[in-house]
Amino acid sequence: MKNRNAVVTGATSGIGLSTARLLAARGCNVVLNGLGDREEIERLCAGIAAETGSTVVFSPADLSRPEETRGLIAEAAATLGPIDILVNNAGVQHVAALHEFPEEKWDLVLAVNLSAAFHAIKAVLPSMMERRWGRIVNTASVLGMVGAPHKPAYVAAKHGLVGLTKAVAIEAAPHGITCNAVCPGTVMTPIIERQIAQQAQVTGLAEDQVLNTVFLQRMPTGKPVQPEEVAEMIAFLCSDAAASVTGAAIPVDGGYTTH
Ligand code: NAD
Repeated sequence: MKNRNAVVTGATSGIGLSTARLLAARGCNVVLNGLGDREEIERLCAGIAAETGSTVVFSPADLSRPEETRGLIAEAAATLGPIDILVNNAGVQHVAALHEFPEEKWDLVLAVNLSAAFHAIKAVLPSMMERRWGRIVNTASVLGMVGAPHKPAYVAAKHGLVGLTKAVAIEAAPHGITCNAVCPGTVMTPIIERQIAQQAQVTGLAEDQVLNTVFLQRMPTGKPVQPEEVAEMIAFLCSDAAASVTGAAIPVDGGYTTH
């Protein structure tokens, strides 16, 4: 993977940050995108660059806006050169019963978790096709494979992302490009920590009880997945060794989807 140019969206924390770190450690130059404090994230990028010897730069593009998503890819290509690897990982969640679900939250969850991947893929494909090599990985979820209550937008977006993965895989395969999805179970990152805190407040349960009874209940391993474990799967899918894996939705879920 030495000298491959990669864009990782939603890489300012959690799974995306672990992925950006790992790709940089394997020799990729990385544009790390996400929200957060600019100075802090630029220090983080400088730290990863110093640790790995790879170029690591930050883009604060807001992927709820299609023009910023297209801008991210254009800016990344201008900074690093043509993009070889795209990891669509940015995600947001909103939890509410469907009959009370705010319409603007539906639009936001669909925009960030699904439409941003479409806009980014559309923007990188022409140069990947020209160079006859490319790797696209979409971070879906177990909720891209099964349903769950009170998360209608997220479940719909992640199922849509798995569908988009298959559609892209078929069109891109003749050009040496693969497109896959990873489907994590519960991973201890800010997106889950916020939900645990919310549910603890609503139910009156302690946070570790919420974790065990709600978030780990369907995972036979009984413990959260680590962000680094998901990053390892993503990095494999970005490697030459994974050339024949395409259109797949691969669970990294402690057995969540086995039953
Ligand atoms: P996280 O909250 O640590 O990371 C989310 C990332 O997305 C952050 O970098 C955030 O800045 C970025 N982001 C949010 N809105 C954005 C926007 N408008 N524009 C650009 N970036 C934006 O959570 P995470 O768990 O690392 O989530 C990463 C992906 O993994 C998400 O797609 C999430 O749905 C998925 N996922 C997470 C879990 C889990 O249990 N944590 C399980 C399955 C799937």
